[in-house]
Amino acid sequence: MNKYEELANYIFPDISETIADLEKRYPKRNLSSGAEVTRFAPSPTGFLHLGSLFTSLVAHKVAKDTNGVFYLRLEDTDTKREIEGSGEELVRQLSYFDVAPEEGYLGNHDVGDYGPYRQSEREHIYRVCIKELMLKGRAYPCFCSAQELEETREIQEANKEIPGYYGDYAICRTIEPSEALIRIKNGDPYVIRFRSMGNHNNKVVFHDEIRGDISIAENDMDIVIMKSDGLPTYHFAHAVDDHFMRTTTVIRGEEWISSAPIHIELFDTLGFARPKYAHLPVIMKLDNGNKRKLSKRKDPEASVSHFIEGGYPAESLKAYLMSIANSNFEEWTAENHCYDLDKFTFSFDKMSLDGVLFDQDKLNFFSKEVIALFTAEDFYDRLVKWSKDYDEVLYKHLVANKELSIKALNIERGGEKARKDFTCYKDVYPLIGFFYNDRYAEIVKDGYPFNEKFSKEVIKDLLIDFANSNDYTLANDVWFNSVKELGIRHNFAESNKIFKQNPDTYLGHVGDVAEIIRVALVGAKNSPNLHCVLQILGKEEVDRRVKLVIDYLK
Ligand code: GLU
Repeated sequence: MNKYEELANYIFPDISETIADLEKRYPKRNLSSGAEVTRFAPSPTGFLHLGSLFTSLVAHKVAKDTNGVFYLRLEDTDTKREIEGSGEELVRQLSYFDVAPEEGYLGNHDVGDYGPYRQSEREHIYRVCIKELMLKGRAYPCFCSAQELEETREIQEANKEIPGYYGDYAICRTIEPSEALIRIKNGDPYVIRFRSMGNHNNKVVFHDEIRGDISIAENDMDIVIMKSDGLPTYHFAHAVDDHFMRTTTVIRGEEWISSAPIHIELFDTLGFARPKYAHLPVIMKLDNGNKRKLSKRKDPEASVSHFIEGGYPAESLKAYLMSIANSNFEEWTAENHCYDLDKFTFSFDKMSLDGVLFDQDKLNFFSKEVIALFTAEDFYDRLVKWSKDYDEVLYKHLVANKELSIKALNIERGGEKARKDFTCYKDVYPLIGFFYNDRYAEIVKDGYPFNEKFSKEVIKDLLIDFANSNDYTLANDVWFNSVKELGIRHNFAESNKIFKQNPDTYLGHVGDVAEIIRVALVGAKNSPNLHCVLQILGKEEVDRRVKLVIDYLK
């Protein structure tokens, strides 16, 4: 009997399976060559972070492009930090962006043959692996108290040494298994640590799909692999899970590079083939001239829900994130007038290595382009869906005025010179709200912003004439000539140039005439194309609004 057997059997009496049994239970996936298995492995500790969406987007894309699998594993072993319901919310938000996994933890149920996909339900699997490590002498119980560990840390700090549990500082490493067994039987609290065989002075080299070969000091830390509550730590659990879920490429944030030596030693010791790695750049923010990570506490844009609530179409944020992922994406969109990521060829080679700064202007730019490509009907449907959750007033108007809304959204849509004035769904109501009669009434209830240099009489006469003479069938340029003629009848020059040559001869120019009409019908000095506005409002409504202005001016 090996000297670890009694201890291992005492700690893991329930475990008779071996790693070899698990290898059979979770066989290699039957996928075509080149197919990548990727994953998103969030902890349910809050909202979906922008960086996590970035990771998911890339992992989803890599799997999709290679006919592979993208799955979600919920890393919920830190029960203290868990926020109830956040796992479901993460999946819901991934769905909004159409990067939801096809396998794994899908909110209220699991799908797939490599589960369970919640780490809290995989205790048995971890125990099998830890027992086997213990039998090989590569895992041992550690009885150090928090206070003892703190004292060690202070000594290390004073000696300017690397903090941690390693070498001679790893005092429980040398406890004989027979003695450890007595202490456990005595009820001494313990955790289980990995026994590292690494040497900090040696280098381990691993290949990163983005960064090339990375050479980094070997791990020599005896890290905790099973906490006192019986649950594993991230380092250990993810290695076991990525292996038995048959992940081919681990795609995660660059903050994990420094832990990669631990992971590599774990994979090697457990007899698992190492996965490929791709460590993505972190999304940063400029704060007082310094770059820092987006912070959950300080930055609303750290949370993906900020963009969902703000009404950014999923495609906009995805396009923006893809422009961070691949430097040639923006050029590709400009050439192809397309934001469909499925059509774009993603490559790890084109990814920037350093933390990238979050760029709201860039996001807005992409969003305007994306929205400009929607058909009015599609835009309308999306707005209805979004406003139902986030903008009650807009929702009410959209539903009550479907035809009018679609016409309003269709103004100068499509074609080479499409309007690009909507950055997000939130922009819609302020820009087209005046089309709705009750919103118009609200806008003008305290008056109209007419240019004060024109008298009430001039405005009234001009508007009455306009209402009587306006021909709704005219094309834009012909119609504009009729506005010029209207102006001439009321002593307005037909152009700004002519007005400037003889400013005393005229009251104003055609631009002023258009502004008076606009202010009367819209309640503001700016609006979408006035000719389109007139066409959509129609004669009856224009007459009604003109009459309101005239009554107001009396
Ligand atoms: N649960 C880890 C996290 O949320 C996952 C890291 C990984 O992708 O391996 O940061």
